[in-house]
Amino acid sequence: MSGNAIELTGLRKTYAAAGSSPAKEALKGIDLTIPQGSIFGLLGPNGAGKSTMINILAGLVNKTSGKVRIWGFDQDVNPRQSRAAIGVMPQELNLDPFFTPRGALEVQAGLYGVPKAQRRTDDILRLIGLEDKAEAYARSLSGGMRRRLLLGKALVHHPQILVLDEPTAGVDIELRQMLWANVRRLNEEGMTIILTTHYLEEAQEMCDEIAIINHGEVIVRDRTDNLLARMDAKTLVITPEAPSGPIDVPGGVECLTRDDGALVFHYHRSEVSANAILEAVRKAKITIRDVATEEPDLEDVFVALTSSNA
Ligand code: ADP
Ligand code: MG
Repeated sequence: MSGNAIELTGLRKTYAAAGSSPAKEALKGIDLTIPQGSIFGLLGPNGAGKSTMINILAGLVNKTSGKVRIWGFDQDVNPRQSRAAIGVMPQELNLDPFFTPRGALEVQAGLYGVPKAQRRTDDILRLIGLEDKAEAYARSLSGGMRRRLLLGKALVHHPQILVLDEPTAGVDIELRQMLWANVRRLNEEGMTIILTTHYLEEAQEMCDEIAIINHGEVIVRDRTDNLLARMDAKTLVITPEAPSGPIDVPGGVECLTRDDGALVFHYHRSEVSANAILEAVRKAKITIRDVATEEPDLEDVFVALTSSNA
């Protein structure tokens, strides 16, 4: 056992051309490992390939090439075991309107071959807060209730890995909180959680590790705290008209003089504003020729790629 819940190697997916739509390369060779026990965030703008990746994990979409290992099982060699290890709450509400929540959970358990004695339908109904609606037709359930039922369906076979595809897109605050409380509890009980979202803040709050994907490629993958540190750390470069020595700066700011005479300020956005630094520069009677930030931070990168994808 590798310690990884998921291992993807060179995963590619090209959707075939259909009608007037040309072929679409949705995943361009993804290499990604997701450790056991984590809450892992897959971030990316719409169309990045998140659902494609997840639907391949779930066995709902056939990959074009590459390797998929789920809980150590190669999807091509041990399809049954790899499928049993994972439960997926899909992005789309795809419920049969004629099933009650209890019926839908029982049918799902049957599909996964869970013996009657091992089914925990009532526990799951309680977990998703639908015990009162257990016998109601799905078509009479609200959108939020249907989403909760989808979560319940993902859990019937006690998977080691729970995948949530955009679980909070367009849901109200109450459902969001209920979802996150459940997800945290399941994770504390040992379940590995993978969730996709295009809300950066949500991923920051929930996830231990994050991969950002765009146009079918992983562009960043790191621990969330490292990503946050990157986002918080800022560099401001000021080119003065005339060379100057180091100047008095606000606390927490590091000021270096570069060989070309530029002043380089390293600071944390959460502690100091860029304006306070500019103020210090003006106080030192330095005439500014140019101001630049050294590197875009992750947030900038994310915003840039989100808008380029609109
Ligand atoms: P995300 O979940 O990140 O929004 P998707 O995986 O849904 O992204 O989509 C990735 C790309 O693949 C998009 O360009 C989308 O239009 C395309 N795509 C998704 N599903 C299909 C499909 N069934 N047939 C053709 N193209 C698809
Ligand atoms: Mg999607």
